[in-house]
Amino acid sequence: MKIETQCLHEGYYPKNGEPRVMPIVQSTTYRFDSTEHIAELFDMPTEFMYSRFANPTVDAVEKKLAALEGGVGAMCTSSGQAAALCSILNICKAGDSFISSSTIYGGTFNLFSVTLKKYGIECVFVDPTLSIDELQKYIKPNTKAVFGETLANPAIKVLDIEKFATFAHNNNLPFLIDNTFPTPVLCRPIEHGADIVIHSTSKYLDGHALQVGGVIIDSGNFNWENGNFPDFVEPDSSYHGMQYTKIFGKMAYIIKARMQLMRDLGCYPSANSAFLLNIGIETLPLRMRQYCKNAEKVAEFLSKSDKIASVNYPTVNHDTEQKKLVEKYLPEGCSGVVTFNIKGNKEDAMRFMNNLKLASNVVHVADIRTCVLHPASSTHRQLTDEQLVAAGINSSMIRLSVGLENVDDIIEDIAQALKFI
Ligand SMILES: *Cc1c(COP(=O)(O)O)cnc(C)c1O
Repeated sequence: MKIETQCLHEGYYPKNGEPRVMPIVQSTTYRFDSTEHIAELFDMPTEFMYSRFANPTVDAVEKKLAALEGGVGAMCTSSGQAAALCSILNICKAGDSFISSSTIYGGTFNLFSVTLKKYGIECVFVDPTLSIDELQKYIKPNTKAVFGETLANPAIKVLDIEKFATFAHNNNLPFLIDNTFPTPVLCRPIEHGADIVIHSTSKYLDGHALQVGGVIIDSGNFNWENGNFPDFVEPDSSYHGMQYTKIFGKMAYIIKARMQLMRDLGCYPSANSAFLLNIGIETLPLRMRQYCKNAEKVAEFLSKSDKIASVNYPTVNHDTEQKKLVEKYLPEGCSGVVTFNIKGNKEDAMRFMNNLKLASNVVHVADIRTCVLHPASSTHRQLTDEQLVAAGINSSMIRLSVGLENVDDIIEDIAQALKFI
């Protein structure tokens, strides 16, 4: 099936007389005829038993998201942050290290650089423009994974996915990627060699700013039996000696994530949240194409304004390296997020934002309605000046998330607010 069809039909196939719309199974638990049956499920959870780690409504959305990205399985989480956390904890433990591109979302940056460090997991940040040979210098004996973000929030820089995948695979390591901004409609990183894809579903996938959520999708392609990942191969003492690769083959990563991490951490979305997320996904292809069209026009308008110092949006960007990456990875568009620097300081940026009438000041991005945010004073507030530079941000940068209003109205609003600087 093509992606438009998958968005509508994957994950839920009603049988004769069953509800046409995926039902909300609002129940923490499930009834069984015998104690023995439940005991068997504790050895091998083949059926739903408790909604801390699996639920039929969430399961349907997980199947849909796995299909959209071309993976073998998926696990939803209660936020994008929880997805990033679990994606790493499923591989790394205290004493391990992993490599991440420095151009990643501020929340993920803080999770990797501060919180994981407290638990003994080290993240080594690298400049994503380094060559494979230069990247190789950062590999250490305890490096367990490589992480990147397809279209960096908010730097709007496209990652060379194949370069990162090759670098990871040369070292027998999995490559994990955050594909939140493009969504599988604009880019499917597994086709370019990524092993694990994560999303904040709070953004375009939901699209309507209704609920926070995340997902981890497993390509099934990585060989966890290469000697580097004993936790996938050797018996798991917390699960009756379960051997993940032996029992689950290609689904070892995603099943281990659910059986160990979700069981113990419980950062699972509610059925109601999954139901709403599914409604968002149904119209995703239509929305993504229109976001891209609107954003291209807004970026073009901004790039022509004499009040604007620079615009970050791949179609108005003159960086030839970035142009090549856009053609390769995002040929159908680069999402609705445009960042730009106005001529002036932080106060000028804020005055411009305060005078917008249609676009709202919100801590969100990728909504159906146009919104703006000042990253340096909000989402990236915890970063030092050097870290801000590494993440591609400066203090007069504005992140504009172009919505689905008529683009002429969006541009008119920007034009009137620019008069205040
Ligand atoms: C928002 C965002 C996250 C974090 O997701 P939440 O759902 O807010 O926890 C992670 N990555 C990217 C690229 C994001 O934009």
